Amino acid sequence: MKYIIISILIVLTTSVCAWAENALGMKEPLKQGGFYVGKVAVGDKVTFHGERVKISPDGYFVIGLGWKYKSVANIRVDHKAGGHTMYHLDVLPHDYDVEEVTGLPPKYVAPPKEVQERIAKDAADVRAVRAIDSDLQNFREEMIWPVKGRISGRFGSHRILNGEPRSPHTGLDIAPGQGALIVAPLGGKVTLVSDQYLTGNTMVIDHGHGISSVYAHMESAIAKEGQIVSKGDPIGTVGMSGRATGPHLHWGMNWYGERLNAGVALGIE
Ligand SMILES: [Zn+2]
Repeated sequence: MKYIIISILIVLTTSVCAWAENALGMKEPLKQGGFYVGKVAVGDKVTFHGERVKISPDGYFVIGLGWKYKSVANIRVDHKAGGHTMYHLDVLPHDYDVEEVTGLPPKYVAPPKEVQERIAKDAADVRAVRAIDSDLQNFREEMIWPVKGRISGRFGSHRILNGEPRSPHTGLDIAPGQGALIVAPLGGKVTLVSDQYLTGNTMVIDHGHGISSVYAHMESAIAKEGQIVSKGDPIGTVGMSGRATGPHLHWGMNWYGERLNAGVALGIE
Protein backbone atom coordinates (compact mmCIF):
# COMPACT_ATOMS: atom_id res chain seq x y z
CA MET A 1 0.00 0.00 0.00
CA LYS A 2 2.84 2.34 0.87
CA TYR A 3 4.38 1.61 -2.54
CA ILE A 4 1.17 2.56 -4.33
CA ILE A 5 0.87 5.85 -2.49
CA ILE A 6 4.46 6.76 -3.39
CA SER A 7 3.78 5.95 -7.07
CA ILE A 8 0.73 8.19 -7.14
CA LEU A 9 2.68 11.02 -5.54
CA ILE A 10 5.41 10.73 -8.17
CA VAL A 11 2.87 10.88 -10.99
CA LEU A 12 1.21 13.95 -9.45
CA THR A 13 4.52 15.71 -8.89
CA THR A 14 5.78 15.15 -12.44
CA SER A 15 2.53 16.31 -14.01
CA VAL A 16 2.33 19.50 -11.97
CA CYS A 17 6.00 20.42 -12.13
CA ALA A 18 8.34 19.11 -14.83
CA TRP A 19 11.51 20.21 -13.09
CA ALA A 20 13.06 19.97 -9.65
CA GLU A 21 15.67 22.04 -7.89
CA ASN A 22 19.09 20.57 -7.14
CA ALA A 23 21.30 21.36 -4.13
CA LEU A 24 22.47 24.53 -5.89
CA GLY A 25 18.90 25.68 -6.43
CA MET A 26 19.22 25.06 -10.20
CA LYS A 27 16.18 23.83 -12.09
CA GLU A 28 16.71 20.29 -13.36
CA PRO A 29 16.80 18.59 -15.77
CA LEU A 30 19.31 20.80 -17.55
CA LYS A 31 18.91 21.08 -21.30
CA GLN A 32 21.18 22.06 -24.16
CA GLY A 33 20.71 25.76 -24.85
CA GLY A 34 19.37 26.57 -21.38
CA PHE A 35 20.70 28.92 -18.74
CA TYR A 36 20.50 28.07 -15.06
CA VAL A 37 20.56 30.21 -11.95
CA GLY A 38 22.17 28.74 -8.84
CA LYS A 39 22.99 29.93 -5.35
CA VAL A 40 25.90 29.23 -3.05
CA ALA A 41 26.81 30.41 0.43
CA VAL A 42 28.30 33.90 0.56
CA GLY A 43 32.04 33.61 0.04
CA ASP A 44 31.91 30.29 -1.84
CA LYS A 45 33.50 30.16 -5.30
CA VAL A 46 32.08 28.42 -8.38
CA THR A 47 34.19 27.02 -11.21
CA PHE A 48 32.75 25.87 -14.53
CA HIS A 49 35.01 24.62 -17.34
CA GLY A 50 38.06 25.65 -15.38
CA GLU A 51 36.87 29.25 -15.17
CA ARG A 52 35.62 31.20 -12.18
CA VAL A 53 31.93 32.08 -12.51
CA LYS A 54 30.73 35.53 -11.47
CA ILE A 55 28.80 35.44 -8.19
CA SER A 56 26.58 38.21 -6.82
CA PRO A 57 27.26 39.53 -3.31
CA ASP A 58 24.34 37.41 -2.05
CA GLY A 59 25.61 34.20 -3.69
CA TYR A 60 23.71 34.00 -7.01
CA PHE A 61 25.35 32.86 -10.24
CA VAL A 62 24.26 31.76 -13.70
CA ILE A 63 25.70 29.36 -16.25
CA GLY A 64 24.64 28.88 -19.88
CA LEU A 65 24.83 25.69 -21.91
CA GLY A 66 25.59 26.02 -25.62
CA TRP A 67 23.49 24.48 -28.37
CA LYS A 68 25.69 21.38 -28.66
CA TYR A 69 26.62 21.11 -24.97
CA LYS A 70 27.83 17.65 -23.86
CA SER A 71 25.73 15.27 -21.77
CA VAL A 72 27.13 16.20 -18.34
CA ALA A 73 27.88 19.64 -16.86
CA ASN A 74 30.52 19.66 -14.12
CA ILE A 75 30.37 22.43 -11.54
CA ARG A 76 32.87 22.82 -8.72
CA VAL A 77 32.04 24.77 -5.58
CA ASP A 78 34.90 25.76 -3.29
CA HIS A 79 33.55 26.46 0.15
CA LYS A 80 34.63 29.48 2.11
CA ALA A 81 34.66 27.24 5.19
CA GLY A 82 37.10 24.88 3.44
CA GLY A 83 36.76 21.87 1.14
CA HIS A 84 34.88 21.63 -2.13
CA THR A 85 31.89 19.88 -3.73
CA MET A 86 31.66 18.60 -7.33
CA TYR A 87 28.31 18.52 -9.09
CA HIS A 88 27.92 16.33 -12.19
CA LEU A 89 24.63 17.36 -13.77
CA ASP A 90 22.96 15.51 -16.63
CA VAL A 91 22.18 17.63 -19.69
CA LEU A 92 19.30 16.59 -21.95
CA PRO A 93 19.87 16.93 -25.70
CA HIS A 94 17.81 19.32 -27.82
CA ASP A 95 16.31 17.83 -30.95
CA TYR A 96 17.54 19.87 -33.92
CA ASP A 97 15.98 20.01 -37.35
CA VAL A 98 16.85 21.21 -40.81
CA GLU A 99 15.00 24.02 -42.55
CA GLU A 100 15.22 25.02 -46.18
CA VAL A 101 14.79 28.69 -46.97
CA THR A 102 14.48 29.59 -50.61
CA GLY A 103 13.73 32.76 -52.48
CA LEU A 104 16.15 35.00 -50.58
CA PRO A 105 17.62 37.74 -52.73
CA PRO A 106 21.08 36.43 -53.80
CA LYS A 107 22.84 39.50 -52.33
CA TYR A 108 21.98 38.26 -48.82
CA VAL A 109 23.06 34.64 -49.42
CA ALA A 110 26.45 35.60 -50.86
CA PRO A 111 26.90 39.24 -49.87
CA PRO A 112 28.86 41.30 -52.38
CA LYS A 113 32.43 42.24 -51.48
CA GLU A 114 31.51 45.84 -50.63
CA VAL A 115 29.17 44.80 -47.79
CA GLN A 116 31.53 42.20 -46.27
CA GLU A 117 33.22 44.90 -44.24
CA ARG A 118 29.92 46.21 -42.92
CA ILE A 119 28.80 42.70 -41.93
CA ALA A 120 32.09 42.17 -40.09
CA LYS A 121 31.66 45.47 -38.22
CA ASP A 122 28.03 44.63 -37.35
CA ALA A 123 29.14 41.27 -35.94
CA ALA A 124 31.96 42.87 -33.94
CA ASP A 125 29.52 45.39 -32.40
CA VAL A 126 27.23 42.57 -31.23
CA ARG A 127 30.17 40.48 -30.00
CA ALA A 128 31.39 43.43 -27.92
CA VAL A 129 28.09 43.88 -26.07
CA ARG A 130 27.66 40.12 -25.55
CA ALA A 131 30.97 40.17 -23.69
CA ILE A 132 29.68 42.73 -21.14
CA ASP A 133 30.03 41.32 -17.63
CA SER A 134 27.75 43.60 -15.58
CA ASP A 135 26.51 43.22 -12.00
CA LEU A 136 22.83 43.36 -13.05
CA GLN A 137 20.77 40.48 -11.66
CA ASN A 138 17.75 40.54 -13.97
CA PHE A 139 18.70 37.04 -15.16
CA ARG A 140 17.08 35.85 -11.91
CA GLU A 141 13.63 37.04 -12.96
CA GLU A 142 11.06 34.66 -14.36
CA MET A 143 11.14 35.19 -18.11
CA ILE A 144 8.07 36.16 -20.16
CA TRP A 145 7.51 36.02 -23.93
CA PRO A 146 8.70 39.18 -25.73
CA VAL A 147 5.77 38.69 -28.12
CA LYS A 148 3.40 35.83 -28.78
CA GLY A 149 2.83 34.27 -32.17
CA ARG A 150 3.55 31.32 -34.40
CA ILE A 151 7.05 29.87 -33.93
CA SER A 152 8.43 30.20 -37.47
CA GLY A 153 11.99 29.07 -36.74
CA ARG A 154 13.37 26.85 -33.99
CA PHE A 155 16.63 27.26 -32.16
CA GLY A 156 19.58 25.36 -33.59
CA SER A 157 17.92 24.44 -36.87
CA HIS A 158 20.44 23.91 -39.60
CA ARG A 159 19.37 26.22 -42.37
CA ILE A 160 19.90 25.73 -46.05
CA LEU A 161 19.66 29.11 -47.77
CA ASN A 162 18.94 28.91 -51.50
CA GLY A 163 20.44 25.41 -51.45
CA GLU A 164 23.59 26.28 -49.50
CA PRO A 165 24.08 24.92 -45.94
CA ARG A 166 24.61 27.60 -43.30
CA SER A 167 25.55 27.66 -39.60
CA PRO A 168 22.78 26.73 -37.13
CA HIS A 169 19.97 29.14 -36.36
CA THR A 170 20.98 30.95 -33.18
CA GLY A 171 17.57 32.11 -32.03
CA LEU A 172 13.87 31.49 -31.86
CA ASP A 173 11.72 33.09 -34.58
CA ILE A 174 8.25 34.31 -33.62
CA ALA A 175 5.86 35.55 -36.31
CA PRO A 176 2.90 37.46 -34.81
CA GLY A 177 2.55 39.83 -37.78
CA GLN A 178 4.04 43.16 -38.85
CA GLY A 179 4.04 45.85 -36.18
CA ALA A 180 3.32 43.62 -33.17
CA LEU A 181 4.69 45.09 -29.96
CA ILE A 182 7.83 43.48 -28.50
CA VAL A 183 8.37 43.73 -24.74
CA ALA A 184 11.44 42.99 -22.63
CA PRO A 185 11.24 39.32 -21.47
CA LEU A 186 13.52 40.21 -18.54
CA GLY A 187 14.61 43.56 -17.16
CA GLY A 188 18.02 44.92 -18.07
CA LYS A 189 19.98 47.60 -19.84
CA VAL A 190 19.82 48.21 -23.59
CA THR A 191 23.43 47.96 -24.73
CA LEU A 192 22.99 48.16 -28.52
CA VAL A 193 20.50 49.57 -30.99
CA SER A 194 21.76 49.38 -34.53
CA ASP A 195 20.65 48.99 -38.13
CA GLN A 196 22.52 45.92 -39.35
CA TYR A 197 22.89 44.55 -42.86
CA LEU A 198 21.79 40.97 -42.10
CA THR A 199 19.66 41.34 -38.96
CA GLY A 200 18.10 44.73 -39.77
CA ASN A 201 16.98 46.83 -36.81
CA THR A 202 18.75 45.04 -34.00
CA MET A 203 18.76 45.44 -30.22
CA VAL A 204 20.78 43.80 -27.46
CA ILE A 205 19.74 43.89 -23.78
CA ASP A 206 22.12 42.99 -20.96
CA HIS A 207 20.48 41.05 -18.10
CA GLY A 208 23.65 40.70 -16.01
CA HIS A 209 26.44 38.16 -15.43
CA GLY A 210 26.87 37.63 -19.19
CA ILE A 211 23.21 36.86 -19.96
CA SER A 212 22.02 39.02 -22.86
CA SER A 213 19.21 38.91 -25.39
CA VAL A 214 19.10 39.92 -29.05
CA TYR A 215 16.11 41.15 -31.10
CA ALA A 216 16.48 41.25 -34.88
CA HIS A 217 14.51 42.25 -38.01
CA MET A 218 12.46 44.78 -36.03
CA GLU A 219 10.29 47.31 -37.83
CA SER A 220 11.37 49.87 -35.26
CA ALA A 221 13.21 50.10 -31.96
CA ILE A 222 11.33 51.77 -29.11
CA ALA A 223 13.88 51.50 -26.30
CA LYS A 224 17.05 53.53 -26.67
CA GLU A 225 20.67 52.51 -26.23
CA GLY A 226 21.66 52.94 -22.59
CA GLN A 227 18.04 52.74 -21.36
CA ILE A 228 17.19 50.64 -18.31
CA VAL A 229 14.10 48.53 -19.04
CA SER A 230 11.85 46.49 -16.76
CA LYS A 231 10.34 43.17 -17.68
CA GLY A 232 7.27 43.88 -19.86
CA ASP A 233 8.39 47.32 -21.06
CA PRO A 234 7.90 47.92 -24.81
CA ILE A 235 11.23 47.73 -26.66
CA GLY A 236 10.29 47.56 -30.35
CA THR A 237 7.91 46.32 -33.04
CA VAL A 238 8.03 43.26 -35.29
CA GLY A 239 9.17 43.78 -38.86
CA MET A 240 11.24 42.25 -41.64
CA SER A 241 14.28 44.50 -41.84
CA GLY A 242 17.56 42.90 -42.95
CA ARG A 243 17.63 39.29 -44.17
CA ALA A 244 14.04 38.17 -43.65
CA THR A 245 11.46 36.64 -45.96
CA GLY A 246 8.52 37.80 -43.83
CA PRO A 247 7.81 39.79 -40.66
CA HIS A 248 9.07 38.00 -37.55
CA LEU A 249 11.09 38.57 -34.41
CA HIS A 250 14.40 36.73 -34.26
CA TRP A 251 14.99 36.38 -30.53
CA GLY A 252 18.36 35.17 -29.33
CA MET A 253 19.81 34.66 -25.85
CA ASN A 254 23.50 34.49 -24.95
CA TRP A 255 25.72 33.69 -22.01
CA TYR A 256 28.72 35.76 -23.04
CA GLY A 257 29.74 34.25 -26.42
CA GLU A 258 27.61 31.12 -25.97
CA ARG A 259 24.34 30.99 -27.94
CA LEU A 260 21.39 29.87 -25.85
CA ASN A 261 17.86 28.72 -26.60
CA ALA A 262 15.39 31.36 -25.44
CA GLY A 263 12.64 28.72 -25.41
CA VAL A 264 14.16 26.58 -22.64
CA ALA A 265 13.26 29.00 -19.84
CA LEU A 266 9.72 29.22 -21.21
CA GLY A 267 9.31 25.47 -21.32
CA ILE A 268 9.17 25.09 -25.10
CA GLU A 269 11.63 23.36 -27.38
ZN1 LIG B 1 15.90 33.80 -36.71
